[in-house]
Amino acid sequence: MDRVDCVVIGAGVVGLAVARRLAQAGREVIVLEAAEAVGTVTSSRNSEVIHAGIYYRAGSWMARLCVSGKQALYHYCADHGIPHKNCGKLIVATSPKETEKLQSIKVHAEANGVLDMQMLSGDAARALEPALACDAALLSPSTGIIDSHAYMLSLRGEAEERGASFAFHTPLIRAKATGGVIEIDAGGEVPMTLLCNLLVNSAGLSATAIARNVDGMPPDLIPPAYLAKGNYFSCSAKAPFSRLIYPVPEPGGLGVHLTLDMAGQARFGPDVEWIETIDYAVTASRAERFYPAIRRYWPSLPDGALIPSYSGIRPKIVPPVAATQDFLMQGPRDHGVEGLINLFGIESPGLTSSLAIADHVAELADV
Ligand SMILES: Cc1cc2nc3c(=O)[nH]c(=O)nc-3n(C[C@H](O)[C@H](O)[C@H](O)COP(=O)(O)OP(=O)(O)OC[C@H]3O[C@@H](n4cnc5c(N)ncnc54)[C@H](O)[C@@H]3O)c2cc1C
Repeated sequence: MDRVDCVVIGAGVVGLAVARRLAQAGREVIVLEAAEAVGTVTSSRNSEVIHAGIYYRAGSWMARLCVSGKQALYHYCADHGIPHKNCGKLIVATSPKETEKLQSIKVHAEANGVLDMQMLSGDAARALEPALACDAALLSPSTGIIDSHAYMLSLRGEAEERGASFAFHTPLIRAKATGGVIEIDAGGEVPMTLLCNLLVNSAGLSATAIARNVDGMPPDLIPPAYLAKGNYFSCSAKAPFSRLIYPVPEPGGLGVHLTLDMAGQARFGPDVEWIETIDYAVTASRAERFYPAIRRYWPSLPDGALIPSYSGIRPKIVPPVAATQDFLMQGPRDHGVEGLINLFGIESPGLTSSLAIADHVAELADV
């Protein structure tokens, strides 16, 4: 039976960052990916925003790894020529009550280490974005956007340069952990059985299902899995904004916000739709809720401008009514299974945090 040092399951942005990190530390790495290419699932169904780290619960993994991951990602983009824009974002208040909330958002952001937020009057915000309707705004200068595919290709290239190999069309089926060695069965066109010292479960939406198929993993430490879809609408009209525009968050979500892709095309969303099974179709009628929400800050959004676009699904590990979730990253000290690392609930800001998550995985693996 073939034996390798490290196996990473999943070639999404997080699995790629982990594979690169381990390979650069001199470890032998093979990445098993069920799909035909890198980043075909959640990593290509997101907003491509480099988040500042404003809203996450202070002290949470999301807050910490977003702030450190953001800095690492900007450096990475600059060093590797990855297309990105540090365009900034405005959080806009359209009522006196919301204006009051901006101050508490600023304080919360500062507790997370986001120290560059600036309060703006409505006029000052309009000096930046003349089409904006708002009473006041909070500017986040460190928010940006990234070409996530260029980033993922670069991570793959660097991992391969350091000897990592990739097996596509190769889903992990089951694994068995015994005494520091993990035996894994992979399916696909060329089914294989491998022995490895380190197995990193970075399978996104499938991470909990995979953990359940690891013989030896305590079932009570595997979180439940829920799916929260986020639908996007693109804008057929040219949106007159050069920064990302977010309303003041509402309970349960960030509100209908505007993000831009690297070509300057505006899209709205994602909203939150709890679903039972994976289905990426975007229902056109959901736009009815988007129009009034967007017109609060962009009154001249033309009728009929919103076009159903794409969706992504958040790998939730807490149910809709529960408190906000955090990344759940388990190593041998957490579950007692030598050589196994599980990454659960890696929803937003997983792209922003990817390099920082990879560093944390290296720590969990004592690399
Ligand atoms: C709607 C939405 C918007 C978001 N916006 C942002 C944003 O703007 N900024 C940000 O920082 N983050 C954002 N995120 C979060 C970010 O997209 C994710 O955190 C990140 O893509 C997760 O990467 P991943 O590698 O963990 O998962 P994935 O990209 O899902 O990769 C997992 C991989 O595992 C593979 N796999 C699954 N099962 C198996 C198996 N059995 N064997 C082998 N391979 C398997 C899959 O094929 C897949 O390629 C957003 C997420 C969503 C849903």
